[in-house]
Amino acid sequence: MKSIDSYDFSGKKVLVRVDFNVPLDDTYTITDTTRIDAAIPTIKKILGGGGSAILMSHLGRPKEGPEEKFSLKHLVPYLAGKLGVPVKFADDCIGASAAELAKGLQPGEVLLLENLRFYKEETKGDEAFAAKLASLGDAYMNDAFGTAHRAHASTAIIARFFPDDKMFGYIMENEVKNIDKVLHNAGRPFTAILGGAKVSGKIEIINNLLSKVDNLIVGGGMMFTFIHAKGGHVGKSLVEDELLEVALHTMEGAEDLGVNLAIPTDAVIADKFDNDAEKAVSSADDIPDEWMGLDIGPETVKTFTDIIKNSGTILWNGPMGVFEMEPFAEGTLAMAKALAGSAGTSIVGGGDSVAAVKRMGLADEIDHVSTGGGASLEFLSGKPLPGVTCLEEADS
Ligand code: AMP
Repeated sequence: MKSIDSYDFSGKKVLVRVDFNVPLDDTYTITDTTRIDAAIPTIKKILGGGGSAILMSHLGRPKEGPEEKFSLKHLVPYLAGKLGVPVKFADDCIGASAAELAKGLQPGEVLLLENLRFYKEETKGDEAFAAKLASLGDAYMNDAFGTAHRAHASTAIIARFFPDDKMFGYIMENEVKNIDKVLHNAGRPFTAILGGAKVSGKIEIINNLLSKVDNLIVGGGMMFTFIHAKGGHVGKSLVEDELLEVALHTMEGAEDLGVNLAIPTDAVIADKFDNDAEKAVSSADDIPDEWMGLDIGPETVKTFTDIIKNSGTILWNGPMGVFEMEPFAEGTLAMAKALAGSAGTSIVGGGDSVAAVKRMGLADEIDHVSTGGGASLEFLSGKPLPGVTCLEEADS
């Protein structure tokens, strides 16, 4: 693989897979520009080196074909302002118009392609579609860490067409470097904190992490599947019945490996899923029938905070409760504070946990705030990411 810092960009048209999946309001104004801002150093490096940049991204989840609200054209004014150069726009990511615009691109110029996911071939990882994208440029760069765990046409398959001219952008390089450090050189004890709504989707990651960590903290809605599996009464809390067996198996696995699987002992419970609900603190395994657990309780906050304080490495993904509602945000915000205050290496990934850290103004106190939730978790649990391996596979 080539490196962005040593590659000779002069005269090269560089196809850059960026993550411009930003939120837009009803007037198509970008409400959080973080992802675009993060990609600017990579784009400027290409332009400064005498190359031109052809940017490709997805935006939202279009169902079938083009949809106005998912058009990347809404990003052009902001992007041009940030880069300080005009940004050309191709209203189709492949086809004659894109080819024409790419062909005419001069060093120092930027072309943004329309939403890749207007074609279902993108998420299917279609090779012919990847070939069409590849035909637009001379080199390929992946700087979209958030989608690096997907083998999509633009995130992985396209790399095949650039055996000698493929590389990470700065965001990817930074993510891979930081996560590699944790994977191969984690300071002990190594603690992972997992939260969020459901066990499903995270169970594989939990099981992978078990062989790496000393402490695995489970919070959020998924804690109730574990507590119920152990015979606890969880009232109307979120439980995935089909995963009770799996949860039991995971708990046994943790015991065999000598991993401390830390499950909340108390919970903040509510009589309905609402901001104005009646609220109380209860033992996590003795919740009244009509109530539901929506956050970890104060005793649990203390236990988890102590574990974090004594850890050499802490990885956090997923909220401890329904933190979008103020009355149930305390546990999540307490974890943000504990990570920020810890002497160990702290890594936070996933939209919700990153939002909690930012809301507390603590992002600067965290060693690595990962831009990719799913991607960082998969990577940290030891799974190879297609968006990374496609670049690392042997150059010819
Ligand atoms: P995920 O996308 O799986 O990481 O889940 C994030 C969501 O989990 C957030 O929107 C939280 O509101 C939700 N969540 C966290 N704790 C609970 C809980 N105890 N009950 C229901 N939902 C929860």
